[in-house]
Amino acid sequence: MSFLKEINRRRTFGIISHPDAGKTTLTEKLLLFGGAIQEAGAVKSNKIKKGATSDFMEIERQRGISVATSVLAFEYNGIKINILDTPGHKDFAEDTFRTLTAVDSVIVVIDVAKGVEEQTEKLVQVCRMRNIPMIVFINKMDREGKDAFDLLDEIEQKLGLKVVPLSFPIGMGYDFKGIYNIWEKNINLFSGDSRKDIEETIEISDLASPELDKLVGENTANTLREEIELVSGIYPQFNKEDYLNGEQQPVFFGSALNNFGVRELLDCFVEIAPKPRPKQSEERIVKPDEKAFSGFVFKIHANMDPNHRNRLAFIKIVSGEFKRNTPYLHVRHNKKLKFSSPNAFFAEKKEIVDISYPGDIVGLQDTGSFKIGDTLTEGEVLNYKGVPSFSPEHFRYINNADPMKAKQLYKGIDQLMDEGVAQLFTLDLNGRKVIGTVGALQYEVIQYRLEHEYGAKCTYENLNVHKACWVKTDNEKSEEFKEFIRVKQRFLARDKQNQLVFLADSMFSLQMTQQKYPSITFHFTSEFE
Ligand code: GDP
Repeated sequence: MSFLKEINRRRTFGIISHPDAGKTTLTEKLLLFGGAIQEAGAVKSNKIKKGATSDFMEIERQRGISVATSVLAFEYNGIKINILDTPGHKDFAEDTFRTLTAVDSVIVVIDVAKGVEEQTEKLVQVCRMRNIPMIVFINKMDREGKDAFDLLDEIEQKLGLKVVPLSFPIGMGYDFKGIYNIWEKNINLFSGDSRKDIEETIEISDLASPELDKLVGENTANTLREEIELVSGIYPQFNKEDYLNGEQQPVFFGSALNNFGVRELLDCFVEIAPKPRPKQSEERIVKPDEKAFSGFVFKIHANMDPNHRNRLAFIKIVSGEFKRNTPYLHVRHNKKLKFSSPNAFFAEKKEIVDISYPGDIVGLQDTGSFKIGDTLTEGEVLNYKGVPSFSPEHFRYINNADPMKAKQLYKGIDQLMDEGVAQLFTLDLNGRKVIGTVGALQYEVIQYRLEHEYGAKCTYENLNVHKACWVKTDNEKSEEFKEFIRVKQRFLARDKQNQLVFLADSMFSLQMTQQKYPSITFHFTSEFE
C-alpha cells in the first residue's frame, strides 16, 4: 500500500469521560467490531479501585493496566484505528491532557442519567482549546435518565458545544425501544439481549411510513416523528467541515453494555473522523505526508520490572515513515539514536515492527534519555508544541529520609519527573525541592516508586501554595521586574527547565501581585506564546 494510502486510512483518537460513564465498556465493544478481541472482559479498566487492595497494590495494578491499555489498535473496514487510553481519575488528569496532544479526534462518553460531570467538563475544555473534533456518545439508554432534549441543552451549556444529533432514542430505560439513526435513516430496535450479536437494522427511508407504527406502536411512532421534526428545527444540519474545525459536535445515543448504537457510532466515526492532521512545531507546521519522519514523546511508562530500569517512550508519528534500526535525531540532545525493537500496539499485545506511519504510536525502549515533549526527526531541528506542564494543585516539600541514598533519591526524582508523574520546583531562596502534583495520589506513587525502583526513601512536608505560575516579562531589566524579584523572593522557584515560577500562597496574593506588577504575565501552563 502506498504511503499516502497508509496515512489516509488511519484514525487516532481518545475516549474521554468521567469515571463510570462507560469508557471501558465502549472501548471493548469497538474492539469487538474490529474483531480484535473475541469476548467481553478483555479490556482492562484503568480505574482506580478503592478499598479492595492496599493503595500500593492498587498503584501497581494501575500501572500494569496503564501499559496494557496505552494504545489499542484494530482494523475496521480497511481503516486502522488507534485508540489512546486516557485515565478518567482526576489525579491522573495530566496524563490525559498530554495524551490529548497525540489524538486527532475524541469521543466523549456521557451517562444519560448523570449528564455532564466534572471530569467531562475539564477534559472537553482542553479539547475545545485545541479545536479537537469531538463526537458525543450518550450512554446507558437502557436505564432511566434525563430527557434527550434536556440533556442536549445541558451539553451545549456546560460544555460549550454545538450539538447535532445524528441518532435519536426511541423511549428510554424500561421503555427503551431503540434508536432512529438520523445519519443513515434507519431504525435499530432494542431487544435487550443484543449483547453478543451485531444487530440488524431496518431501513426507514420515510418516517411517515406506516411501517414505523407497526414496528414500535402508533404512539411511540408519533412521538418519534415529532421529536425528529423538532431535532431538524432546533439543530443545524451536520457539516463535516464544522465538525473537523471543532465548531460542531455530532451526538449518538446508545448502550455500550448492550452493544447497542455502537456500530452506528463506529460507522459514522470512520467516515467523518479526521485522518492524521498537520502539527505545529515551534519552527513550522509539519504535514503528515512529508517524506521525512518526525514525531514526539507524549507518554513515558516505566518498566514494571524494578531490576531493569528500562522505560517505554510512546511516540506519536507526525510525518514520514518510522523505520526500525534507522538513526533519528533526538533534537533536545542533538544526538542520533537507533531503535532495534520499536513496538507497535494491537488490541491486547505489542509487537516489534519494521515500519510505522503517521497517526501510529510506537513504543521505544529507553534507559532515560527521553522526557515528555521530546521530538525525534530525520535530522531537521523541530520542537513540537503542545505538551505543556499544567499548574499543579498540590505542593509539598520533599525531604531525603536516608542520607546514604541521596544519589538514588535525586536520580529517582529526576526520572519520575521526566515521566511526567509530577513537577519539581527548586526554591530560589534556599534550594529546597518542592513537588507539585495534580492529585494527592501522586505523592504515594512517588514515595512507593522511589523506594521500590531506586532504593531511596523520602518524606514530605506541607507547604502552603495555592498555584504555581510561570512568569514572563518582556524586559528583565525593568525596575518593576527587579522589584518583583526582590520582594517576592521567598515565593520564587525554578522548574526543571530552569524557567522562573511564582508560587502564590493564595488566590488573593496572586491577584494582588498581578495588579502590582502589570508588565509581568503569570501563566498557568508552562508553554505560552
Ligand atoms: P468507565 O469508568 O468510564 O471506564 O466505565 P465502565 O465501562 O467501567 O462502566 C462503568 C459501569 O457502567 C460498569 O458497571 C458497566 O457495566 C456499566 N455500564 C456501561 N455501559 C452501560 C450501559 O449501556 N448500560 C448500563 N446499564 N450499564 C452500563
